[in-house]
Amino acid sequence: MARRDDSDGAATRRSSFGTASFGGMSAFRGGLVDHRMARRATINEVQRGRLGREEVCDAHPELMRAARSVGKRTEAICPICEEDNLVLVTYVFGPRLPSHGRLAADNDELAAFHRRPEEYTAYVVETCCSCRWHYLVRALPIGGQRGRRRVG
Ligand SMILES: [Zn+2]
Repeated sequence: MARRDDSDGAATRRSSFGTASFGGMSAFRGGLVDHRMARRATINEVQRGRLGREEVCDAHPELMRAARSVGKRTEAICPICEEDNLVLVTYVFGPRLPSHGRLAADNDELAAFHRRPEEYTAYVVETCCSCRWHYLVRALPIGGQRGRRRVG
């Protein structure tokens, strides 16, 4: 809903941006299947009123900016506010990249990382530009010439 956003510079500095800023990051480390269940469980908790929206709709201002500028719009409606389509934002983390990662604007940029010898991880985060819901949906290894060539 209409909460204060963008113009709040103090919030930007409140916490530094990194993989820990992504909703669902801790659940993700438990494995992909659990992670999907954790996402659904989180959404259920909000729908049942046991978890406040403000606890899950708190995307970092950096993530919101990225979602609005380069987010890839999907057909999926936000599970929390049901008022807007989810967008996907992809960040790449790895050697010689800033601690807050590099925003990958499109598949070409991802492909460029994939061709490098270093190993990176691309994090795909679903984000709602209306209510600020955010959740990590995928983390995939790229680069490092691992032989597996799935990108995007
Ligand atoms: Zn929403």
